[in-house]
Amino acid sequence: MSLKDQQGAQTVLSPGSTIGILGGGQLGRMLALAGARLGLKTHIYTPEASCPAALAATELTVGEFDDVDRVLDFAKSCDAVTYEFENVPALSAKAATSGAPLRPNADALNVSQDRLVEKTFLKEKLGLEVAGFAAVNSLDDLRGAVKELGLPCVLKTRRFGYDGKGQVIIKSEGDIEGAWDRLSPAECILEAFVSFEREVSIVAARGVDGQIAAYPLTENVHKNHILYQSTAPASQDDGSAAKMAGQILETLDYVGVMGVEFFQMATGDLIVNEIAPRVHNSGHWTQDAGCTDQFEQHMRAVAGWPLGQAIPQHGVVMTNLIGDEAKAWKTLAQEAGVFIHLYGKSECRTGRKMGHVNRIVKS
Ligand code: AMP
Repeated sequence: MSLKDQQGAQTVLSPGSTIGILGGGQLGRMLALAGARLGLKTHIYTPEASCPAALAATELTVGEFDDVDRVLDFAKSCDAVTYEFENVPALSAKAATSGAPLRPNADALNVSQDRLVEKTFLKEKLGLEVAGFAAVNSLDDLRGAVKELGLPCVLKTRRFGYDGKGQVIIKSEGDIEGAWDRLSPAECILEAFVSFEREVSIVAARGVDGQIAAYPLTENVHKNHILYQSTAPASQDDGSAAKMAGQILETLDYVGVMGVEFFQMATGDLIVNEIAPRVHNSGHWTQDAGCTDQFEQHMRAVAGWPLGQAIPQHGVVMTNLIGDEAKAWKTLAQEAGVFIHLYGKSECRTGRKMGHVNRIVKS
């Protein structure tokens, strides 16, 4: 079910259309809920039938992400396809594109799946500042890269790293061999350690017509490498993070919501850490801030609709509920001004994101 826009150029999906979502985690669940509010149907593609998104979506296909034929069939049943995680295999992204428009496009996946490609794109193509980095494919490479970048530094796998997984800090020469043993034989990247003042992020969206809407700067605190708390709007936002995000969105001809993470130095300078071509944990506060939330914003963009208002009506602190913390739901439910979001995960594991709460801080 589709309409042409005024120029007759882009496909605008009307209510009742189906948006396919590759991935069935909490981000897929919240996208499906937002889609339902807009009268859009959602079709989740997931390897796990009892995933967080299952109950919120209209339809579910259970399949492996590298099952290209199944992904193609799934895409053919949808009016547009999006994804809630960046590790969609390249061939499956290609298959999805053959079945329906893929928004964001496969370029966004290519750039964000591999830390080396990502850093090279940000630095060389866009001229943005990133941590010093070097490709590492052997212990000899690593020794050379440590000499070049200095100590301390961080060895990371190029692919499949998240929440601090697939990375090791090297503090002294004596750590080099152990770090390599832990991550090899994966292709790696060595990064100079950034002594930042704070971590901040920008969540921004771009529509099919090129319209851009950026939420205000968000300040993030991590615990054990996992996002713990996001405060928005962050203090001292001079607009440069949003400008950089806009540059990234335009260069990739991106459609949808993107998260861009930065290290901010004591001087105020921003160093881009990484980009996430999807709705982002540091944007969950938007759900209760009195603006169009990031999930609705993403669905609007994917459906070719105009973007909504990204200016919050009040400040919000978002706190993740990790592992057992979600068991406090009853106490949290008694607290005034707390908005609770639980992901419906049946198994509670240490370090697993089970939900989050948003607390309004000022009007
Ligand atoms: P990442 O998976 O790259 O986002 O890293 C997870 C967290 O590790 C970041 O949010 C930082 O707190 C820390 N980190 C990662 N890379 C660096 C770096 N080059 N210098 C300092 N801290 C880092």
